[in-house]
Amino acid sequence: MSPHPLTLALSAPNRLRIEWSDGLRREYGCRELRDACPCATCREQRKAAPAELLHELGQEVTP
Ligand SMILES: [Zn+2]
Repeated sequence: MSPHPLTLALSAPNRLRIEWSDGLRREYGCRELRDACPCATCREQRKAAPAELLHELGQEVTP
């Protein structure tokens, strides 16, 4: 069985802390999650220019 997340918590507005079932704990930045995500939305985002991407992330973290 592959590891699955036990807890998910925002440690900062753009950082997600994940505790995995195998005991691993890691923090992931928004960009890192986006880069690892296979969904169509994120694939489109990865094609965008870096400046546009940063702009998008900036909007996402605004409350
Ligand atoms: Zn995605």
